[in-house]
Parts: sequence; C-alpha cells; structure tokens
Amino acid sequence: MSFITAAEADKNSYDVVVVGSGAAGGQTAYTLTMDGVRVLMLEAGRNYTPATETPMLRTNDEAPLRGAGTPEKPFGFWDATIDGGWQVPGEPYTSDSDDPARQFVWWRARMLGGRTNHWGRISLRNGPYDFKPYTRDGLGFDWPMSYDDLAPYYDKVEMLIGVYGANDGLENTPNSPPGVLLPPPKPRVSDLLVQQRARKLQIPVIAGHRAVLTQALDHKRLPQLLHPGNHKAQQILAADMQKRAACIFATPCGRGCSIRANYQSTTVHLPPALDTGNLHIVTDAMVRAVTKRADGSAEGVIYIDRKTGAEHRVKARIVVLAASALESVRILLNSGVANGSGKVGKYIMDTVGANFSGQVPLLESLPLHNEDGVDGLHLYTPWWLYKEQLAGKLGFARGYHFEFGGGRLMPGMGTAAGLEWLNGGTYGKKFKEDARRYYGSFVGFAGRGEMIPNDDCYAELDPKVKDKFGIPVLRFFWKWSQHELGQAAHMQKTAAEIIDAMGGRYSAQPQSGDKAIKQGGIIIHEVGGAIMGNDPAKSVTNSYGQSWEMKNLFITDGATLCSNADKNPTLTIMALAWRASDHMLSLMKRKEL
Ligand SMILES: Cc1cc2nc3c(=O)[nH]c(=O)nc-3n(C[C@H](O)[C@H](O)[C@H](O)COP(=O)(O)OP(=O)(O)OC[C@H]3O[C@@H](n4cnc5c(N)ncnc54)[C@H](O)[C@@H]3O)c2cc1C
Ligand code: SF4
Repeated sequence: MSFITAAEADKNSYDVVVVGSGAAGGQTAYTLTMDGVRVLMLEAGRNYTPATETPMLRTNDEAPLRGAGTPEKPFGFWDATIDGGWQVPGEPYTSDSDDPARQFVWWRARMLGGRTNHWGRISLRNGPYDFKPYTRDGLGFDWPMSYDDLAPYYDKVEMLIGVYGANDGLENTPNSPPGVLLPPPKPRVSDLLVQQRARKLQIPVIAGHRAVLTQALDHKRLPQLLHPGNHKAQQILAADMQKRAACIFATPCGRGCSIRANYQSTTVHLPPALDTGNLHIVTDAMVRAVTKRADGSAEGVIYIDRKTGAEHRVKARIVVLAASALESVRILLNSGVANGSGKVGKYIMDTVGANFSGQVPLLESLPLHNEDGVDGLHLYTPWWLYKEQLAGKLGFARGYHFEFGGGRLMPGMGTAAGLEWLNGGTYGKKFKEDARRYYGSFVGFAGRGEMIPNDDCYAELDPKVKDKFGIPVLRFFWKWSQHELGQAAHMQKTAAEIIDAMGGRYSAQPQSGDKAIKQGGIIIHEVGGAIMGNDPAKSVTNSYGQSWEMKNLFITDGATLCSNADKNPTLTIMALAWRASDHMLSLMKRKEL
C-alpha cells in the first residue's frame, strides 16, 4: 500500500480513516497499521519528500535576502513549511475583535507531515500535577486520567521517535525509565554560564529534551519493547531504525532533516507504517465533514480533491480526526456531530509566551568555535517555584519554563544588527570589529507558560465567510486572564535577574504582563476545543479521545487537551494518540466497533 489517488481510494474499503498526517495522524496510523489495521490517511496538503526536498547544508548567503524571514516565509527562506503559514491563500479565518490583544492567530501547515516537518522538537512530559490542575488550585479541569495512565505511552513515543534528555528527578518534571532517553548534547558556552549564574539564584538549569537522535537508535532492543509478540512490526521497525542517522549538527532542524535524525511524521511515523502494506495515503484531500449512519454512528468523511475540485466520500469502521486541534474542531462544527455538550470549539488554549534577551560582556570576543549543535535548546529551565506558588507568594496560578539560547550559531541576516545600544553606531572597519566582538555574546530567554482554559477563548463557525472550497471557516474569540499576564511579567523579571547575574545588560527594562505577553496563537501550541472529561455533559470525548455520542469517532490531536501545561504539547499529543489507537485496537478485536 502507498500513495494513491482519490479515485483509487473510492474503490477500496478501510477499517479506519485518519484525517491529517502530522504528529497525531502519523502516530495513529503508525500504531494501527503496525497491528494489521487497514488505514486510509487523508491529508489536505501536498506530498512532501524530506529526503530530496530538505535544504540541508545550504548556507544563508545562498538564499534570497540571506535567508531572512518574509511575510510568506516568516521562519526564513529555507524553512520546511513549503505550504502554509499565518495565512493560507483562499483559506481564511476570522476574529471577533479588531484589537490585537483579543485576536487569535493561527499557524497552519498544508503538507504531508503537517507542522512536524518544521516544529522545534522540544519534547517534555507533563508531570503528575499537570493531570490534576483543578484538584490543586480549583481552576480549569482535571484530566480523566493520571500521569501513570499516560507514562507507558510517553515511554513508547520517546523510544520510537528518539528523544534526548536526562533524568533530573525534579518536582513535576518526570524521569523517563532507564534506557529510554538518548544522551543530551554538550552544553554551549553560553548555556554553561546561564547554568552557573541561575543556580546562584536557586533556578534549576538542566538538560533539554528534544526529538533529535544524538546517537543511532538501538534497533536490536527497541522494536521488541515497542511491539512485544508482533514479529512483523519488530522487523519493519528494526529495518527502518537503521535508516535513521544520528544528528551531524548540519543546519537548523526547522528546515527538516533529510538524514532523518530528528522527528518528523514524514521521516519517522509514515515510512514504517507504509512498509506494513496497510496504509494508503491520499494527499491534496481536504476533509469537509464527518458523515453519519442512520444509527447515529460515524459512516466516514466527505472530502474535496484539491487538484480536481471533485467531492469524494469514504466509509470506514472508525473515523479519526487528527487534522490539528482547531481544524478538527472546524470539521466537527461543519459536521454538526458529537456536540451534544455544546463544548465543541470551547476552551481553546495556547502557551503563554514572553521573551527577554540581553548581552553578556563575558561572552564577547571568544575564540572561534562552532556551536550550532543539535539546533534548538541543549539546556533549559523547568518550572521551579511550586512551593512559593502553593504558599500564595506569586499572585498567579501555574508555571512556566525557560527555553534559552545563545552561542555562535550559523550567521544570518541580523547577526550583527541592532548593536547601536552597545556601541552607539559604528561603520566600516570598526563595525566589522564590533560584529566579531559581539557575535555570540547575546542570550535570549523564551518563557513558555501554562494557560488556564477560560470562557472567553473559543471558536465558532463564521456565519458569513467560507474558504475557497465553500467550507465555513472559524471565527475566534480570545482574552488572556490575569494568571497569564502575571506569568508573563514574572518571566521578564526573572530573565532580567538571570542576565544581571551573568553580568549582562539589556536594551530595555522588563515590561508589564499585558505588554510582554505574545498574542494568542503566536507560540503555535494551540490545543483544546473538543476537551476530554469524565462527564458527557461537560466534555466532548472520554480519555481515549472517543466521542461520547459517536462511539466510532475519535479525535487524536490536541483538541482533547483540557489543560495546557507549560510543557510543549506535541509529545503528549503523540502519547495520547498511541493510547487512543490501542483502545481502538482492543475495541475492534472485541468486535465492539
Ligand atoms: C514553528 C513551530 C515550532 C513548534 N515547536 C514545537 C516544539 O518545540 N514542541 C512542541 O511540542 N510543539 C511545537 N510546535 C507545535 C507542533 O508542531 C504541533 O503541536 C504538532 O504538529 C501538532 O500535531 P497535529 O498532528 O495535531 O497537527 P499538524 O502537525 O499541524 O498536522 C495536521 C495535518 O492535518 C492536515 N489537515 C488540516 N485540515 C485538514 C482537513 N480538513 N482535511 C485533511 N487534512 C487536514 C494539515 O494539512 C496537516 O498536515 C511547533 C509548531 C511550529 C509551527
Ligand atoms: S541539527 Fe541535526 S537533527 Fe537537526 S536538521 Fe541538522 S542534522 Fe538533522
């Protein structure tokens, strides 16, 4: 089985149809096909082949504008997102408000593998507290499961995709079992300085966790642990793991990785799933709605072939929505199903974001060395003020972590820009000397915090606007609460304290929360909109992402998250998708679906 056309798919029958091919769709299709289930994956974007399309080893000076971002390519010319962005031509979304502070912005990728071709690969587990936030402080919702329910699936995903990190045993920052994580990369010089000075402030700095292979995966040990008793799956996975190389520190991960050293659905989930012979993929297939049988169960989906404009229908025993949280919400609303609770579209969350950076004289004029490393963070700071918060000393609920960066990375446009606040403005020879002096002496702190679901952040169908396929689009409503604004202010203040402790300086003082906080959606960690729960009157799905009303309809992307811990959500999305798929397998084996 393989890539087929919509016309070919019309002639086949499938056990499961999966909508979307990103982290959620990839994981769902992987788990199901490895266990012999016949899956049709429908992907709205075009096919994409990382082995030939990834611009690795290309330098910024080869690109227009030296690779700098443009409105069409905000993450730079070489970014892996070949189709999509903040705006997708012909596929708008709308906002209820003209005030940017009340608007939600939405990053979409239209390509096989979705946003996983580009994402930052930061892969943090939620901790035990993150599953029971309401019990701890009376805000938001508890998950209908505990950390222990999801922990085995975190283990599996980490072993399958390959995540580096270390076990530091810190509060609500779970360890992985021995033999699961890959070794973390060596810290950069600026990381070591941050670590040394932050520790003096009692702020922890530990190994980062990212889905990048710092060494080859153990193809003899891991397949047996991941697929016990399933020899075919073990063989397929062992063969595939050997085709993934370890990171060679070659150009940023946001371009994708042709040697398959980092996680992309297109390089990690889909190849072995295709090798099972159980997966068909139709690309350029824009799903409009879930269709319903007379008994009220899901019949299949209707989709539009983007190349021909023709409408197709496919039927299956199970329908899985994995189109990314808000696209799945849109499909649900356009289908008019699974919404007896009235909660579809409600409780949309992003991550709280505020950045602060500075310059550190101690890092000036260092001897020449290359610090590109595995791209992304080598070290990070997990949230640490649990006790102070419980004692009511912070004035806001929940926490954040710091992703920080610095070092002598590959130069691009802007490497030597904005030095005027340090040197008063120089030209010619002096400017070149300054560029060398200050190169690599900046550190940037990105605070990433937990947003609490609230009644003001939701999406509904726009009553007037439709996309180019005639499908109604989403209209967003957004408002941060005081908790998020309090966090953003605290992020800025704390980052400034760390820079002070490094003997550094900054061009502007920390700002208040409402000024520092990034717009909703900017961090691109949107989740919620079809939350899980224990009560069908207050939630859309159970803990397996299974609709309360349509037992054969599952949602395996971030739409079901009923809180959005500070930990970046994708590892959790994949762990939930694997767990949901195991549940589907057991229901199918028991002939209950
Ligand atoms: C710049 C950036 C950095 C990020 N960094 C991190 C990070 O470090 N850590 C982290 O945890 N997360 C990060 N994320 C977020 C991460 O990418 C997402 O959480 C993750 O990709 C979600 O997986 P998904 O499968 O739900 O959605 P996606 O990966 O977006 O995949 C959804 C797929 O469904 C397809 N689709 C949509 N609508 C339809 C339809 N109607 N019919 C058919 N197909 C459809 C899309 O084309 C897409 O291919 C980052 C994202 C970006 C953009
Ligand atoms: S840094 Fe490593 S994992 Fe990332 S794209 Fe380059 S080689 Fe691949």
